[in-house]
Amino acid sequence: MSEAKKAKYIFVTGGVVSSLGKGIAAASLGTLLQKRGLTVQIIKMDPYLNVDPGTMNPFQHGEVFVLDDGSETDLDLGHYERFLNKSFKQTNNVTTGQIYSTVISRERRGDYLGATVQVIPHITEEIKARARDRANAEEKPDVVIIEIGGTVGDIESLPFLEAIRQVGLEEGPENVMYIHLTLVPYLSVAGEFKTKPTQHSVRELREIGIQPHILLPRCSQPLTDALKKKIALFCSVPVKSVIVGEDASTIYEVPLKFHAQGMDQIVCDHFGWDAPEPDLSEWEDMVERIKNPRKRVKIGICGKYVMLKDAYKSIIEAFIHAGVYSDARVELVWVSSEDIKKGGAEKYMHDVDGLLIPGGFGERGVEGKIEAIRFAREKRLPFLGICLGMHCAVIEYARNVCGLSDAHSFEFYRDLKHPVIHLMADQEGVTELGGTMRLGAYPCVIREGTKSLEAYGEKEISERHRHRYELNNSYRDMLTDNGLVLSGTSPDGRLIEMVEIPDHPWFVAVQFHPELKSHPLDPHPLFRDFVKAAVVFSEGNGGREEEQGKNDSATAES
Ligand code: GLN
Repeated sequence: MSEAKKAKYIFVTGGVVSSLGKGIAAASLGTLLQKRGLTVQIIKMDPYLNVDPGTMNPFQHGEVFVLDDGSETDLDLGHYERFLNKSFKQTNNVTTGQIYSTVISRERRGDYLGATVQVIPHITEEIKARARDRANAEEKPDVVIIEIGGTVGDIESLPFLEAIRQVGLEEGPENVMYIHLTLVPYLSVAGEFKTKPTQHSVRELREIGIQPHILLPRCSQPLTDALKKKIALFCSVPVKSVIVGEDASTIYEVPLKFHAQGMDQIVCDHFGWDAPEPDLSEWEDMVERIKNPRKRVKIGICGKYVMLKDAYKSIIEAFIHAGVYSDARVELVWVSSEDIKKGGAEKYMHDVDGLLIPGGFGERGVEGKIEAIRFAREKRLPFLGICLGMHCAVIEYARNVCGLSDAHSFEFYRDLKHPVIHLMADQEGVTELGGTMRLGAYPCVIREGTKSLEAYGEKEISERHRHRYELNNSYRDMLTDNGLVLSGTSPDGRLIEMVEIPDHPWFVAVQFHPELKSHPLDPHPLFRDFVKAAVVFSEGNGGREEEQGKNDSATAES
């Protein structure tokens, strides 16, 4: 592409209902364009008033995805990074909260002196400025894909839709595409698919002034040609631009399904790109391995939000990636920490090949997690602890190996005799809760002769963090004297980032969040080796046969 090229814009909107997979659709199209040699930027625009999702309850919003730069973003950024194998920035996630706080602080500064500050043009101009910021990113992207959160018809999304309509006018039709995702429900009483909600949703979009170029009807099964023609006619798009998004057994199959229907070619034709066909062979191989693994392992996950799998989205995905490596389906067994506390670990964990304790906040369920870790340590069950999972592992070790029966974390109790986990020094005096944790990428140096080093294969690594508490250095000697290995520290040696138990088959706990940096073609080394150890554990117990073609485990539910 020439030096002076201007980025094109693709806007992805959704209609009928939420949770149709706009993020995966946007990421899948991005993947196809990237594999055609194009440079892709991608933005999620969220219409809520929070500045970022960092202060939201994961029960409501799903996980908070932390980027290298420390921003706390929507979980769709996780899909973008996993699919595109690229690291994004805070500016890739825009919220109404950010837009309004920028405009309001400008107003207070006096930048709009004399003017009445309004949604149109002030808010819409700021939304467009955020889109243009990524279009002008350092890497000079060929295209910016912009996903608008929410559903067409929501009051909250109106300023975003108005802004993207204006972009279409300002940039010219040859530089902008609109893609609209809808639902085509199957009514079993009538025995047929219904296209009416799609027609209404597109009509609503057209009332705003946006005519979609591509329609993505989601449905449970393939649509007949007759139905595609009907949708095309009523919604005013060519039949070939009705790209059916039928349910896939794995989200990683979506780019393949889009490509098979010619979606990336339609985009290239619209923008006049003469881009080569994508080489999808590696991707196809990965999807095949997800769908038809030879082995199976069961991993127990013990956390507070077990009822809401979106709260652990990146962990679920990291296990899928690690499973590809080990040719195993990783079946996740969600165990409630409260159940373990009441019924004991043996009852809920006797049939798992590994235990993962994810990150979390608050005291509820912590005793159950500590009990689960004790079980894993004593039964030599592979274990991976993440953030709060590492805190619990250190408490367990201090209590049951070092003999400090009242060891606990300062996060939960203030007047502790043995606060083996305490507040980080730079968190003292922090009173505002939004965006003030230790966030984002920090370097870590790994100790020789450890399983951690074996996994990473390099001594200096960088991982993403989101926490306020850490291992209390006053207990370092006691823990190491009793056999715990402090396997990773900050380069100045002051913060403990990783611990492990050397005479255990695989017991590693980390202060950071490895799940945020796993990719389907490049699994995270800790998840990869953890799953490998779980396969060994299961084979030691006779192994688990995988039923070919079976695809209903927790891991396939993404
Ligand atoms: N609540 C703990 C802290 O703030 C752990 C955070 C986490 O698990 N992400 O340090």
